Amino acid sequence: MGKHLVLVGGGHAHMVTLAKLRTFIEMGHRVTVIGPSDHHYYSGMGPGMLGKTYTPAEIRFATRHVVEKQGGAFIRDKAVQILASEKKVQLASGETVGYDVISFNAGSYVPRLDLPEDAEDIYAVKPIERLMEAQARILELTAQNKINIGILGGGPSSAEVSGNIWQLVRDAGGTMPHITIFAGKRFMSRFPDNVRSKVENSLLRRSIEINTDGYVQSVQSGMVTLSSGEPRPMNLIFLAVGVKPNPIFNNSGLPTGPDGGLLVNEFLQSVDYPEMFGGGDCIYLEKQPLDKVGVYAVRQNPVLYTNLMAALEDTPLQPFDPGEDYLLIFNMGGGIGVLRKRWLLLDGKLAFFIKDYIDRKFMKKFQAIE
Ligand SMILES: Cc1cc2nc3c(=O)[nH]c(=O)nc-3n(C[C@H](O)[C@H](O)[C@H](O)COP(=O)(O)OP(=O)(O)OC[C@H]3O[C@@H](n4cnc5c(N)ncnc54)[C@H](O)[C@@H]3O)c2cc1C
Repeated sequence: MGKHLVLVGGGHAHMVTLAKLRTFIEMGHRVTVIGPSDHHYYSGMGPGMLGKTYTPAEIRFATRHVVEKQGGAFIRDKAVQILASEKKVQLASGETVGYDVISFNAGSYVPRLDLPEDAEDIYAVKPIERLMEAQARILELTAQNKINIGILGGGPSSAEVSGNIWQLVRDAGGTMPHITIFAGKRFMSRFPDNVRSKVENSLLRRSIEINTDGYVQSVQSGMVTLSSGEPRPMNLIFLAVGVKPNPIFNNSGLPTGPDGGLLVNEFLQSVDYPEMFGGGDCIYLEKQPLDKVGVYAVRQNPVLYTNLMAALEDTPLQPFDPGEDYLLIFNMGGGIGVLRKRWLLLDGKLAFFIKDYIDRKFMKKFQAIE
């Protein structure tokens, strides 16, 4: 008898499952996909969209369309709680959806540091949709005055966002803002010195300030206050302080890793609930915790598809192998990239060209299904 498969979030790890959704339907199963938007944005190209290298349409997948075209149901809503013992998921609208097998690819979020959701001129780098609003605001303000833009966080996303703001204003012919990255005590601290200095130099050459005087004490619209008490007036503030897995698992009392991600075994399956799976930023792989990068979400695709089918059809599960060290390329704006793969380190136009090629190819492959 047919079963009900529910996918929560149409993120990067569900791409193959979404592309092959018809195969579940043809085997007599029902599929429901839950997501807060009809589209899913590829965050790896988000900074490039902010800098206008890409249009929003170039970096998004039409999730709803792909699901409905293949005979699945799409619910535009957010999952807020999992009632695991009842095999039900509760949505923000109050509706509950029952399942036989469920898979989570609900991503991660940037902690808002106690700031209200509607704090004026403060933008988190996720969800990527927010970067479109930020882009319009930057263009509006820099058309009139020299402004200050502050970016909280000292990791790759703050580097990419700052470099792409620079590109955006340069290409629009606006007044270049003073851009400051508030990096805490050390910029790009997770990376080796040679990578850090390439990224740093690329930003410093364009007069982007990297502040390592200590952590920011408080943030409010228009102002960043450093731990020394020094106030730094800012017209626009970006939050790029690192991501945390979707809080839904903690809120539901499910077994999680230390970061709050759904605790899964080598089959990408919840350690307590065999009918529950997940991939991407929202999981915590028990034996080998993974970096929160799209590369792993993409690598999980075929295993997640196979295992969801196996769970529905009672066939053996396949283990996930995270694979070797991954290729890292940062989009620094201005057509420049910084690339690292094991011992290879490259910066300049070629590095960006490679990232652009890989990202566009990935998008084309899955947009073709639309
Ligand atoms: C600015 C920036 C740049 C980055 N650049 C790169 C890069 O160049 N290369 C790289 O490998 N990684 C990069 N990363 C990291 C990478 O984007 C993430 O690891 C990747 O997005 C994880 O994919 P995901 O599908 O798990 O999550 P997401 O991309 O966050 O997708 C989650 C999906 O779930 C949906 N969703 C959210 N909450 C709910 C809910 N409650 N119910 C239902 N659906 C929900 C969302 O709408 C979304 O569609 C970058 C991250 C950022 C922030």
